[in-house]
This record gives sequence, C-alpha cells and structure tokens, in this order.
Amino acid sequence: MSEREDGMFRLDGKTALVTGASQGIGAAVARLLAARGAAVVLAARSVDKLESLAQEIVAAGGRAQPLALDVGDAESVEERLASLPEDFADVDVLVNNAGITADNLLARMSLEDWRRVLDVNLTGAFALTKAVLRGMMRRRWGRIIAVSSVVGLMGNAGQANYAASKAGLVGFAKSLARELGSRSITVNVVAPGYIQTAMTEELGEKARDELTRSIALRRLGTVDDVAGAVLYLASEEAGYVTGSVVNVSGGLYI
Ligand code: NAP
Repeated sequence: MSEREDGMFRLDGKTALVTGASQGIGAAVARLLAARGAAVVLAARSVDKLESLAQEIVAAGGRAQPLALDVGDAESVEERLASLPEDFADVDVLVNNAGITADNLLARMSLEDWRRVLDVNLTGAFALTKAVLRGMMRRRWGRIIAVSSVVGLMGNAGQANYAASKAGLVGFAKSLARELGSRSITVNVVAPGYIQTAMTEELGEKARDELTRSIALRRLGTVDDVAGAVLYLASEEAGYVTGSVVNVSGGLYI
C-alpha cells in the first residue's frame, strides 16, 4: 500500500462519540473509528459492556472512554456529556446510532410504544446533536452521522413507529446539513438494510431465506458493512458530502 493510501480515512486527533456502542452496529463503528485513530466515547446504558469494549480498544492501542447514557432521557444528555474527561470532551464526530424497535400493527400499537421509539431513535439524536453542536461550530469542523434504516425510506408493515423515527432522522439530517454547511460541518445518514445483529436474530429460518432472496447481493449485511460507510462519512475525504443518505442494504432497497 502506498503512503498516500495508508493515510486515507484517518481520524487522528479527532474525538468521536458513538451512541448505542455497547453492541451490534455501534460497537463495530466504535472499533473501526478507534482503529483509524479517533479517541472514541462509547455511549449506551449497559456500562459493563462499554467498559469491556473500551478495554479491548485500549489493548489494541486505541483510546476509548465509556459513558453511561440513556438517550431516551433527553433532559439528562447535556449533563452526562459534561461529565466526560477533558481529553474526550470536544466531540468532532457524532454517530447517532442508538435505536430500538417496538413492533406492532398500528391498530394494536400503544401510544407508549409510539413515544418510546420516537424518544430514543429521534429525540435522542436531537438531544445529542444539540449538545455537541456548539463545540463543532466553534472549531468549524464536524461530522454528524445518523444510523437510520431503509425501513425509513420504504416503510414496513408493523413498524410505523420505527419507520417514522428513521424517516424523521433523514429530514432532521437534511435540514441540519443546510444549517451547518457554512461551518464545514457535514450531516449525513446511513440507511442499513438487514444486518446480522441482535435486532434481526429473532427472524426464523424461513423468513431469513425469503428475505435473502429479496436482497440483490443475496446475503444479510454485517456490522462491518455499516461501519465502513460511517467511517467514510466521518473522514476528511467525505468533506464535500452532506445531506446525503447512504443506502447500505445490499440492494434490498434500490
Ligand atoms: P442492537 O444490537 O439492538 O443495539 C442497539 C444499541 O442501542 C445498543 O448498544 C443499546 O445499548 C443502544 N440503546 C438502546 N436504547 C438506548 C438508550 N435509551 N440509550 C442509549 N443507548 C440505547 O441494534 P443494532 O442492530 O446494532 O442497531 C443499531 C442501529 O442500527 C439502530 O438505530 C437500528 O435501528 C439501526 N438499524 C439496524 C438494522 C439491523 O438490521 N440490525 C437495520 C437498519 C438499521 P444499551 O441497551 O446498552 O443502552
């Protein structure tokens, strides 16, 4: 590999905060950003898992800081971020990845399940973004990346709350991209299709086979497929990309 290639997609000197970093896509994103040189704040509710991931990253020569955070409790976000040690406090790259589902047909969906999904998936991203924005504006550099879903683009029966939250992230990101472009802050969305994680483990074998046939690349995605797209959007090289939705669905949605 030439010197120039080796130096691409590096995040040395940057601090990245990843929500939902305790497992699945968020953990893979955190590992990759750390491997590319970023100091990484690992945020989620399961502190034990965050601590073991932080240890793993540090053992591999990276820098990581766990942060206990419930993004569903928007009022607490600012205070939780203020508790970060100084060398992790200036967030340059924010990955709003934390997300939940509470599936049901609308006729049976409770207001509570509607609100819970919107609170975590959409209002959580609002609260985190607002909390880190001032620093990015001051430093005139920033990367804000939301992990949405192709379900937010194409809809899915039984997931009206989840799809609304994920479509909401797209409108949120596109508006912010316009607000913040003059400060060299980019705002983009990654929309994964079906990725092998705890969230999709419940699918039976028959459903999985049917699903695989509807994916152009004939396989479910991996967490690393998504992490690669996030790394690109976080990088210096993606400096002219803002307000975009990167579809990482293997051609499930085209
Ligand atoms: P996952 O394995 O269920 O992980 C979800 C993560 O979100 C966990 O780290 C969880 O941590 C965190 N989280 C949930 N509620 C939280 C809260 N209130 N505050 C802070 N963190 C919270 O899911 P995943 O498959 O990796 O999904 C990650 C993101 O990708 C989600 O936004 C999901 O909608 C999206 N996505 C996934 C797929 C897929 O096929 N898997 C497809 C499209 C989009 P704690 O429980 O420790 O808080």
